[in-house]
Amino acid sequence: MEQTRVLGVRVDCVDMDAALALIEDFVDSGSRHMVATVNPEFVMRAHDDREFARVLDAADLCLADGSGIVWAARRQGCVLAKPVTGVDLVPPLAEMCARRRFRLFLLGAAPGVADDLAERLRAEHVGLQVAAHSGSPDPSSDAETVSRIAAERPHMLLVAYGSPNQELWIDRVGEKLDGVAVAIGVGGAFDFLTGRVPRAPVWMRRVGMEWLFRLANQPWRIRRMAVLPVYALRVLRAHS
Ligand code: UDP
Repeated sequence: MEQTRVLGVRVDCVDMDAALALIEDFVDSGSRHMVATVNPEFVMRAHDDREFARVLDAADLCLADGSGIVWAARRQGCVLAKPVTGVDLVPPLAEMCARRRFRLFLLGAAPGVADDLAERLRAEHVGLQVAAHSGSPDPSSDAETVSRIAAERPHMLLVAYGSPNQELWIDRVGEKLDGVAVAIGVGGAFDFLTGRVPRAPVWMRRVGMEWLFRLANQPWRIRRMAVLPVYALRVLRAHS
């Protein structure tokens, strides 16, 4: 698998189809895997947070989530047509789970959201076995969450706690999840897919302006997004 590093963080040079094929192989292998959807905020955090950097480095697949990552990766010869985002992964993963009879578990988001998405996915994919729980990334909830997941014996776990909580949660709790062959951090995907948060129109995504749409709809993101210009400058400086 071709890889690159964006300011030290690994990014695998795989598009959506290749990512899906790899994830299917992970489930077939049966052993434990973690997938991260790396965006510029991840890269900036990993710079200051060694534990988060370690967890990303240990991931089995680091997908290029966000046009800022695709741009930086392209400067180093890793040409991807578009980002592979958590929200775009969920529908084909649900299709894969239905087709291959993989059991799916949706963990995270506000109470009721994962259940709502599970219901929608069940309606769309005949035979899909999917369970859900909102849970919490707080360690005090780990025991309950683990027992709920264990009861469903999923092969694939999608974790929507936002970053870095979801990656740290998968790293901390993963080994207690017998039989879960792949755990994927998907950020706010459940909110988008249940229509709770509007997604940028396709044209905006195509020109790499999804961040602007998110900022307009969720102005509280300004603090998190404040790192983006610094990210861009560092990428330009690092690879000029
Ligand atoms: N979330 C959660 N528990 C928490 C904090 C956040 O389930 O303690 C969920 C939140 O409801 C949302 C997701 O995590 O669905 C984070 O979404 P966001 O868009 O912030 O994620 P990003 O992809 O930007 O990291």
